[in-house]
Amino acid sequence: METDPHIPRPAIIRDRIEETPTIFTLRLEPEGHSPLPFKPGQFNMVGVFGLGEVPLSIVSDPSDVDFFDHTIRIVGRVTGAMARLGPGDRVSIRGPFGNGWPMDESRGRDIVLVSGGLGCAPLVSVVNYVVRRREEFGSLTVLHGVKNPGDLFWKERLSRLNEQEGTRVFLTSDEGGAGWEGAVGPVTDLIPNIPVTLRTTAKICGPEPMMLSTVRKLRDQGIPEDDLWVSLERNMQCAAGFCGHCQLGEIFVCRGGPVFRYAEIKHRLGIRGL
Ligand SMILES: Cc1cc2nc3c(=O)[nH]c(=O)nc-3n(C[C@H](O)[C@H](O)[C@H](O)COP(=O)(O)OP(=O)(O)OC[C@H]3O[C@@H](n4cnc5c(N)ncnc54)[C@H](O)[C@@H]3O)c2cc1C
Repeated sequence: METDPHIPRPAIIRDRIEETPTIFTLRLEPEGHSPLPFKPGQFNMVGVFGLGEVPLSIVSDPSDVDFFDHTIRIVGRVTGAMARLGPGDRVSIRGPFGNGWPMDESRGRDIVLVSGGLGCAPLVSVVNYVVRRREEFGSLTVLHGVKNPGDLFWKERLSRLNEQEGTRVFLTSDEGGAGWEGAVGPVTDLIPNIPVTLRTTAKICGPEPMMLSTVRKLRDQGIPEDDLWVSLERNMQCAAGFCGHCQLGEIFVCRGGPVFRYAEIKHRLGIRGL
């Protein structure tokens, strides 16, 4: 069996779910071999033959060993081409890459997840992971913000989580609208209302200004910087720490990240041009 994550392999699309008009989920089954093991927060390089490949977070659960699920927003060339694919079509896949979220360190702790826009994708994997292993974790609080109500996917599923003991989901949209039942405003406005204990650890994903503002508010709530984790999004091409597209100072986000303890990365964030 091929075990080198750097070698692109064909994968067949087994399923496709329309999440919103611009977001869809593909279930990919590598052909002729099992997917390699992965952790929540890791990503694959998924390619459209003849066009190129893009980094995509794996949103399925590591215990589902036969396939990878990827939730994709149509942004440009490659994601636009993926949007035209469906069951039976083939893509290429390399990975998994990156370090993933520190789920072992989070065991037994209260977890806060804060996400903005499709920054949700790396955190969806954490939601799946915790929900499947509910007794291994403390409380789960999910704060998710979108630009407008139409951007929200997984609404039903996220709302249903509220029925689980110890789990709370708060949704907000920058713009309100007919039928919108969540809050209106930035996701950071939700933070002062969340329960924080000495064993709270937070995972954050979204645009960098949103993550920095989230970190400030979580710190104000008393969560130490060592317990704040961020997932960074950078342009990536090789995913193996060679090409330098994702370089942040001396760090390659593809290899050293994309998940970082905030205290360890804070001096490199928010610096224009770095
Ligand atoms: C570790 C990691 C995990 C990721 N996980 C996911 C995921 O799970 N789902 C997902 O949909 N995307 C994810 N992304 C982002 C995804 O890789 C990009 O959207 C994709 O590379 C765009 O490629 P494209 O060829 O379609 O667009 P391009 O043709 O390369 O770009 C078109 C235009 O969109 C802009 N653009 C490119 N990327 C983004 C972006 N992320 N946001 C806004 N504008 C952008 C470009 O600057 C350009 O102007 C992830 C990125 C990283 C680094």
